[in-house]
Amino acid sequence: MKLLLVGEVHDGRLTTETAELFGFAARLGAEASMVIAGSVDDLPAFDGRLYRAEGGHEFDATFHKRLVLDAIEREQPDAVALLHSSYGWELAPRVAFAMNAAQVSGVVGLDDDGGYVVECCNGKMLRTVRPLTDLAVLTIQPGAFAAAPMAGSPEAIAIEAAQDAAIEFLGCIEPERGIDLSRAEVIVSAGRGIGSEEQVELVRALASALGGEVGASRPVVDAGWLERARQVGSSGQSVSPSLYVACGISGAIQHLAGMKNSGFVLAVNTDRDAPIASVADVLVVADLAEFLPALTTAIRAR
Ligand code: FAD
Repeated sequence: MKLLLVGEVHDGRLTTETAELFGFAARLGAEASMVIAGSVDDLPAFDGRLYRAEGGHEFDATFHKRLVLDAIEREQPDAVALLHSSYGWELAPRVAFAMNAAQVSGVVGLDDDGGYVVECCNGKMLRTVRPLTDLAVLTIQPGAFAAAPMAGSPEAIAIEAAQDAAIEFLGCIEPERGIDLSRAEVIVSAGRGIGSEEQVELVRALASALGGEVGASRPVVDAGWLERARQVGSSGQSVSPSLYVACGISGAIQHLAGMKNSGFVLAVNTDRDAPIASVADVLVVADLAEFLPALTTAIRAR
């Protein structure tokens, strides 16, 4: 199988998740080539062809579409794989539409029969789909495939593409982040299991006792119990603290994608079989309402 991977560049660097695309290719046993748009210093190490194009803004999807279409024409891959990120969401449908190819969004696994496993019903169920077109365009859920060890030296091929005649890209404004969790050494995150906005105070108290920041899973943010800037996960921030305390968080893949690089993970959950157990160094099976005040008091007493 031949895969064309689309590397993702931010601030002149390849995103760390880009290495997971190589992990996906390795799981498929596929021959991989990659296309990267934009100037990057840290080129990926792999054995294959690397299509590079300078110029064009890193978020100009119309320009990137042309580069990917050019690389598809040269490579003739069976599938194109992008990350399931805001970059991939914007680019994948454009490429799929232009190629009349099936698009499979948010791949989290593979079945033994060439099918792609994706989540549905907001992550509560899985389904397996099999593209019927010669070319498939896939977006790969960050965190679903381990990054492959990088080795080798790719054959670099320069490509050029014209700007889209119909659309002029004027620029891109970075949102103000307000709260930057990416440098926090300790994060105590509230999940839906905390139960109510009032109970979030228990999480704040523990974070304060530990000298850390407060994070959140998406339902907590959607409920308005904590600011959106505190959301950890694939559509929130990626964090890598020394200590991550997950309070009433089940461990959905979108949440794990944002905290999988944490040092020590302490999870508190009433359900010993919650998926967070698979990434936790310690799982405390307890009710948050009882355990958090006890832990906070014990830490303050030290
Ligand atoms: P739940 O899954 O409802 O889990 C609650 C947990 O609390 C359960 O494990 C339960 O056993 C436990 N619990 C209940 N009561 C107690 C108690 N009293 N004491 C202790 N434990 C208790 N999610 C994110 O977090 N971040 C993202 O960036 C993100 N992006 C997404 C992007 C997309 C495109 C989609 C489709 C989903 C995204 N999600 C994201 C949502 C994600 O799929 C999950 O729905 C979400 O992470 C679940 O949050 P949770 O673990 O807090 O809630």
